[in-house]
Amino acid sequence: MLQVRDLSASYGAVKALDGVSFDAADGQITAVLGANGAGKTTLLRTLSGLVRPTSGTAQLGSTDLLRTPVEEMTRTGLAHVPEGRGVITELTVEENLRLGALGAPTGGERRFDLDRVTELFPVLGQRRNQVADTLSGGERQMLVIGRALLAEPRILLLDEPSLGLAPRVVAQIFALLRDLVSSTGLSVLLVEQNARSALGIADVGIVLNLGRLVVQQAADTLVDDEQLRHAYLGF
Ligand code: ATP
Repeated sequence: MLQVRDLSASYGAVKALDGVSFDAADGQITAVLGANGAGKTTLLRTLSGLVRPTSGTAQLGSTDLLRTPVEEMTRTGLAHVPEGRGVITELTVEENLRLGALGAPTGGERRFDLDRVTELFPVLGQRRNQVADTLSGGERQMLVIGRALLAEPRILLLDEPSLGLAPRVVAQIFALLRDLVSSTGLSVLLVEQNARSALGIADVGIVLNLGRLVVQQAADTLVDDEQLRHAYLGF
């Protein structure tokens, strides 16, 4: 369970997060929604130690995330997949995946080895020896998610995985994500502009506006709330 309390962060005079509190349960997808500039990316970057908060707490199980050095973050069970699909283009799919495993905690049972990840994303198995440069946008997105899984996360922070992908490919990736969470008990924070698709697979949605949390609700309740959808979600 991730517990965030009263989290604030600023860039100089710009208050990007303002007293944000919410819980994200294990085995659930929490969609993080809101307009451009609402603070979604800043929330992920603060949780993963890339932005220093001005106040608040963030607890992942017994780990105090905000006191964890960024280089130790992966070993606490948090994996962050930023926007932009940062694969190493000269390396093969398998080599990229193996890099993810370098961040995994040593010892303990492995839930996500190379075989499991290629079972979850069969296309990565088929393209195992292909250099990442030649992958499609959707395949690259699967590769960065697969690579993050090899670090054995308890929670996966995904920033705009749908960016620049065709609707059919987005639907495919989101369906894979849903299966992944249901079959492994992983927790996912899913930042999305594409609110309708995100709520289609999420258990819970949180809506940010100008750095503040507007609401945290079951995803289907959010979809049914026409006023809120029109005001904050653009559909
Ligand atoms: P988008 O959907 O457009 O990516 P977002 O909800 O992810 O938006 P953030 O990127 O977190 O929003 O930005 C929140 C606010 O902080 C915005 O006003 C943005 O201009 C500002 N901001 C973000 N990064 C920086 C930075 N490095 N320096 C200064 N201001 C920043």
